[in-house]
Amino acid sequence: VTETLTDMLDAAVSRFGRRVALEFFGAETTYDDLGAQVERAAEGLRRLGVARTDRVAIVLPNCPQHVVAFYAALRLGAVVVEHNPLYTARELRHQFEDHGATVAIVWDKVADLVAEMPRDARPAQIVSVDVTRALPFATRAALRLPLAKARASRAALTTRPTAKHLVAWEHIVGGKKLSKRMPRPALDDTALLQYTSGTTGAPKGAILTHRNLRANAAQGRAWVPGLHEGEEIFYGVLPLFHAYGMTLCLTFAMSIGARLVLFPKFDIDLVLAAARKSPPTFLPAVPPIYDALARATGRKGVDLTSIRFAISGAMSLPVQTVARWEEVTGGLLVEGYGMTETSPVALGNPIGPSRRPGTVGVPFPSTDIRVVDPGHPETDVEQGQPGELLIRGPQVFQGYWKRPDETRAVLLEGGWLRTGDIVTVSPDGFVTIVDRIKELIITGGFNVSPSEVEETLLGHPDVEAAAVVGLPRSSGGEDVTAAVVLRSGAQFDPGALRDYCRKHLTAYKVPKRVVQVEELPRSLIGKVLRKTVRDELTSAAA
Ligand code: ATP
Ligand code: MG
Repeated sequence: VTETLTDMLDAAVSRFGRRVALEFFGAETTYDDLGAQVERAAEGLRRLGVARTDRVAIVLPNCPQHVVAFYAALRLGAVVVEHNPLYTARELRHQFEDHGATVAIVWDKVADLVAEMPRDARPAQIVSVDVTRALPFATRAALRLPLAKARASRAALTTRPTAKHLVAWEHIVGGKKLSKRMPRPALDDTALLQYTSGTTGAPKGAILTHRNLRANAAQGRAWVPGLHEGEEIFYGVLPLFHAYGMTLCLTFAMSIGARLVLFPKFDIDLVLAAARKSPPTFLPAVPPIYDALARATGRKGVDLTSIRFAISGAMSLPVQTVARWEEVTGGLLVEGYGMTETSPVALGNPIGPSRRPGTVGVPFPSTDIRVVDPGHPETDVEQGQPGELLIRGPQVFQGYWKRPDETRAVLLEGGWLRTGDIVTVSPDGFVTIVDRIKELIITGGFNVSPSEVEETLLGHPDVEAAAVVGLPRSSGGEDVTAAVVLRSGAQFDPGALRDYCRKHLTAYKVPKRVVQVEELPRSLIGKVLRKTVRDELTSAAA
């Protein structure tokens, strides 16, 4: 890797100029337009005082302005910090206190939330983006739907105007272009402070350089064969504020001159409407999205056969989901593995007949792995035995922002990253994720992998989704407990579900108790939050 993300965008502009880079509710932005907007926005941000190494916060749903803001901040050598725009005031405040951004580029719906933060968290300048502004009237009406829904799902939304801190986005992109003489970022400059998902604790800011992110886009390119430069249509249904969407949708798309169709949230009807104009060829997503789309193809006139490749990550991909998806699309659905700390992808299944459902595949190019004893990370386990996965490669991050102890705990000598995930490796090198160390259930003597029990339950025809956790027992240890969501029409029969588990699992793995729930708590990218399930079941029992 020799290019920064800024160089990469410039190269795409000169190679793919008149092709469409971004599509949003039918509105198109060519590579030429994108390049020009980035230069103007960079000048606008420079005038607001943004300088090298400053943090620039972005609090936006997926939209063209998000992409422009991202590259404009990078062009100045600044550090982008992404945020979930649906975070509550408290969650946003924690992150702003942590990173101390001086300028924030925010969705107008949450501008007040940012403007009203306490002084020590509040950015000096807030740029407010009306996401619907540049769209034709009919499209604006269509867009109101997802944004209104998203808005309704936010608890603490205030609407009082606080105009004094706000600068309109149009003001930022409306002026001159940045002078070509302005210094450009260097390969080892920090590009992104990307917060982890917060599945196991408070989100931590992972420091990712241009080299890290550019390397992962290049590794992705080597992973996915048969892509046609300048011709692919990527669907950006994953949020750009998450490492997975940022790399697999945005920087990867830009690196091959793809058309990236952006969605402010995943909504089946929006996807299907967009597919009539620009049928997708490549879809990075997560298992709940593949399930929902596969179900929707049952509806009249819905055709997803244009999608040649689909790539799943962030959580385990049930083999049932793979079978259903491949049947309805005729394309391939393969699983990879990664984490925010690896920019994010580190392993992937070969895309072709040798892929192996149920595994996360093999290490990416220039990526090394080890499997070690979590208690003694210097010691490798024997081949085939479960152990903690360590990763080394150009995509491994630089450390956590302002958390030297946590950084030291995961970044070992020699550049090895501790993942906190337990894996096994087959003799021919395919890696299977067992579970997170933090989520293994300690029943007394034996550890139970919640994923194994969940997969068993998913094999039962009545079960739509399952989360398995350990509930503390008064005598010490934990009881294996399952929360299940039933398929529509199914009757809840906990005894039958336990009998089913008994047939497929050793006795100590069988849930002591099965409870029915309407829905599982999930993170915004769709990960089941086992920690929340555990807390809820514990307090229900108390
Ligand atoms: P936090 O670190 O804040 O607790 P998080 O680990 O969920 O949250 P991410 O960086 O988004 O934050 O997720 C990385 C984790 O996701 C991995 O460590 C792993 O546990 C899980 N993961 C990623 N891909 C897969 C996969 N294919 N199968 C199972 N788990 C996966
Ligand atoms: Mg993590």
